[in-house]
Amino acid sequence: MDLGIGGRRAIVCGASRGLGFACAQALAREGVAVTLVARHRETLATAADRIGRETSILPATVMADITTEAGRRHALAACPEPDILVTNAGGPLSADFRALEAAVWMEALHANFLSAVELIRATVDGMAGRGFGRIVNITSLTVRLPVQQLDLSNATRLALTGYVAGVARQVAPGKVTINNLLPGTIATERIRELGATAEKLIAKVPMGRAGDPEEFGAACAFLCSRQAAYITAQNLLVDGGLCPFTV
Ligand code: NAP
Repeated sequence: MDLGIGGRRAIVCGASRGLGFACAQALAREGVAVTLVARHRETLATAADRIGRETSILPATVMADITTEAGRRHALAACPEPDILVTNAGGPLSADFRALEAAVWMEALHANFLSAVELIRATVDGMAGRGFGRIVNITSLTVRLPVQQLDLSNATRLALTGYVAGVARQVAPGKVTINNLLPGTIATERIRELGATAEKLIAKVPMGRAGDPEEFGAACAFLCSRQAAYITAQNLLVDGGLCPFTV
């Protein structure tokens, strides 16, 4: 299926590996000019090279910490008029809730809430002015299912979910959609880092396996497609059936 987004421009955050990379790769395969953002030069260059070799269009790269104002400015300077925005940053610390002090909460809020809020705020009116916009936030299954030791994620992702629920309806008249993609257990470095916490979850997945990042990237590309114009303010789990809810 042609997703109808060839020639569009996208900023993809946290795109040097894992889910962000998979989203950038899926968009690039559709002919989207992607700008990859991450903090480390070498992994960024490898990611861009991989996409460039596959699609014959070398993505732009921005070495920046997206949780900072300067980092976001840098990303927006490289792609000032994005049609598509994928917000994403590293996952927060896994720890006992008793050990989480205010400074740690602030860090998680910047990474998993405020960075997305600020990028949305900076891009949404331009998208509406041009009559097309797709924003996808990579959140987490913790929005639906609290996970022990991941209290920073359990709480901060819900802040973003609430924000999107309100804002998506306000920008809908401008033909801008905002949706959240909720990964469950997709095989990335983050999942490997979580060790036993992730292993316990994978053992419960009805599909009997961890997800493939490409499966996640494909869902992102669809939400960014021309055909997905009527889907907004939604939270889509990509979890192999792990969260056992009817709706
Ligand atoms: P990952 O494999 O650790 O990749 C994270 C990516 O984000 C890397 O490219 C990393 O590159 C970049 N990044 C991290 N912090 C950044 C920052 N401050 N500014 C810019 N780039 C940054 O993680 P992942 O599995 O793809 O997960 C992506 C998000 O989904 C995370 O928030 C994670 O908690 C969440 N999630 C994932 C799963 C899953 O199944 N994998 C499940 C639930 C939630 P640099 O280090 O070079 O910056």
